[in-house]
Amino acid sequence: MKGWEDFEDEQNALAKAKKIMETLTDEPPFSDRGVIKRLKHRFVVMSTEYFTAGLMKDIVEFAGEEAAAAILYRGGYHSGKAIFRRYKELTGNDDMAIDLCTASAWYFGWGIVTIKVEKREHELIGHARIYKSFEAASYKNTQEFKNEKKCHFLRGVITGIMAEYAGKPYKGEEIMCTGEGAPYCEFVLMPLDIEEPILPL
Ligand SMILES: [Zn+2]
Repeated sequence: MKGWEDFEDEQNALAKAKKIMETLTDEPPFSDRGVIKRLKHRFVVMSTEYFTAGLMKDIVEFAGEEAAAAILYRGGYHSGKAIFRRYKELTGNDDMAIDLCTASAWYFGWGIVTIKVEKREHELIGHARIYKSFEAASYKNTQEFKNEKKCHFLRGVITGIMAEYAGKPYKGEEIMCTGEGAPYCEFVLMPLDIEEPILPL
């Protein structure tokens, strides 16, 4: 330990961190600079022990399970909308934007995602499947959340993508989850104002 006056400058701190991590693992760093950028955006890697299971646990403690689910869902919803908008801007095409959303889910390790959209009467209804959901895996070792449908954040993400695709608010329900032993997580996405109630959000 050094005194306050002996702070490392950035380059020395960076070199030191690199050296220390090399004693722990020979896996390559995500970035040599300490800033991870992909597709012109900054990203951060965090353990699935914290995101989402650890975070969920903390929110449950402060605000209860319903609020925790709603907060994670809402965060996911806004992320999904932003992700769709980014790819729509890049391609100018709604269907290509959906394809890029699902491909980037694989790229960033969120899971392997497919989204199908069908027209039922005058409404667009979405069906989505996620294989290897990182969120279900995150809850796996958390005793309190075992054996439940719990992909609130990812449910929000795909619902937000669907909302942006359709140009109106949507609600999403997870109808099966790898967290309760299913082979994949499956979601139904419906307009928020549709008559048939699917899920109170
Ligand atoms: Zn799930």
